[in-house]
Amino acid sequence: MCGALSPIGDGGLFLNVAKLYSHTYIIMEKQKQKAELDELKKQVSDCQQCELSKTRKNIVFGEGNPNADIMVIGEAPGANEDEQGRPFVGKAGNLVTEVLESVNLTRGEVYISNVCKCRPPENNLNQHQSAVDACEAYLQKEIAIIKPKFILALGLTAAKSLLKKQISQNDLMSNIHGKVFDYQDTKILVTYHPTARISPLDIILADVRQIPEIINPNSKEV
Ligand code: SF4
Repeated sequence: MCGALSPIGDGGLFLNVAKLYSHTYIIMEKQKQKAELDELKKQVSDCQQCELSKTRKNIVFGEGNPNADIMVIGEAPGANEDEQGRPFVGKAGNLVTEVLESVNLTRGEVYISNVCKCRPPENNLNQHQSAVDACEAYLQKEIAIIKPKFILALGLTAAKSLLKKQISQNDLMSNIHGKVFDYQDTKILVTYHPTARISPLDIILADVRQIPEIINPNSKEV
């Protein structure tokens, strides 16, 4: 027994050192992600690349946990978001919070952003495809920095921007909501935007019920 104590002791020490390294690595990675996001936000803050720069009050950059496993991606800021310079505030924010809470997630756990960082004056991106095209590079950079394990795409614009190869530009939300797509190293679930004119909350809640199993495929075995 005595001879066995040393290896067990060494093993314990090794495990503690490994845990310390892993903990330190996570902290450094989080700091790096935050610094990269801050730098990107700085670049976006005076962007004039499309016509929406002329009518916006504020740039609305993403916000939330820079180390999040889950990203929520909407379409573009509305009037409240434009006023406050924050994504998903007011009614839209309350709905997203409700959707997240339905699967035991909080806003603080996820990172929330939009395809476009400036508000379309008519609250409709259909007339501003050039803005979508110009702005999606920023979203791609946010995704590359955060490296989420899962993305919830809210609305057709988000789905079509992210899933160019997997879905047709003619697809309707009624055809693609509730479906899970592969995207780079992550999965994307598509559902309705909670503030869309035809936006059945019960369907959104049914779609997002899949999230725990997508994130942790073994959870069903419990
Ligand atoms: S919508 Fe995007 S590309 Fe257009 S001005 Fe705003 S930040 Fe720049």
